[in-house]
Amino acid sequence: MIISVASGKGGTGKTTISVNMALALGAGVELLDCDVEEPNAHLFLKPVIERSERVEVPVPLVDLKKCTFCRKCSDICRFNALAVVGKKVLVFQELCHSCGGCMAVCPEGAITETGRELGTVNFGARGDIRFINGQLRVGEAMSPPLIKRVRAEADLQLITIIDAPPGTSCPVIAAMNGADFILMVTEPTPFGLHDLKLAVEAVRLLGIPCGLVINRADIGDRKVFDYAESEKLPVLLTIPFDRRIAVAYSQGKNIVDEFPEWRERFGDLFRKIEAIIKDRGEAVSCAK
Ligand code: SF4
Ligand code: SF4
Repeated sequence: MIISVASGKGGTGKTTISVNMALALGAGVELLDCDVEEPNAHLFLKPVIERSERVEVPVPLVDLKKCTFCRKCSDICRFNALAVVGKKVLVFQELCHSCGGCMAVCPEGAITETGRELGTVNFGARGDIRFINGQLRVGEAMSPPLIKRVRAEADLQLITIIDAPPGTSCPVIAAMNGADFILMVTEPTPFGLHDLKLAVEAVRLLGIPCGLVINRADIGDRKVFDYAESEKLPVLLTIPFDRRIAVAYSQGKNIVDEFPEWRERFGDLFRKIEAIIKDRGEAVSCAK
């Protein structure tokens, strides 16, 4: 079972929900931090990191001794990652999407592959909770391949909780695609509502069942609740604005560790999701 925890905007408490749900389950679960540009789930879960792997993507390497400067490679590259200038072939590695097209069309066999570092994948655990995160290299812009690499490490025998990146662009889709359920975390503010609407549109395209957690639920207004009702989005958990929770968060502590009554509530959150997945016919899906 794969549950992707997402939010239209950052700072809504997506990581808090992911970590606390994993802690409430305690075993048979893994947490994948796919917010690779700014992974922070490890700061709260505090796993022991056992190993790290460097992740690379293939990019072209041109042998000028074989090259006849015919431009076939630059013509086929739709990302403008190659340019033939006089007797040089310039490769802009950051633009390359590793499609292999240039290598396939080169009539001289002048192009081979070399690796470009994307980032690191770290593997660890906290007790019986398996943990993996991706860390994008500083300055690297292309995060979806690293997110896919983290997801490829998922153990499908476990309950997989994915902490997705915020927003609604390609990295988020990479973290949500193929999930059994998408849990969207929002807050009852105009910004929260605006970004929630965008996120729901993206989720509907994927046709995956979804539900909401409304964080700091007693601030702002009722418009997020009204929107959820009008769109038939189930509100699975509300978390009030509680100074004690905010203080614990600022100290890197978790809700279920500090306030035992919340362990049951996060367990209930999972059981509601599990019920929806098991009974998709009755599920209030994001697909209206
Ligand atoms: S396709 Fe091959 S031979 Fe032609 S310019 Fe590119 S590298 Fe050189
Ligand atoms: S591998 Fe694809 S994207 Fe990269 S330079 Fe070659 S044609 Fe362009």
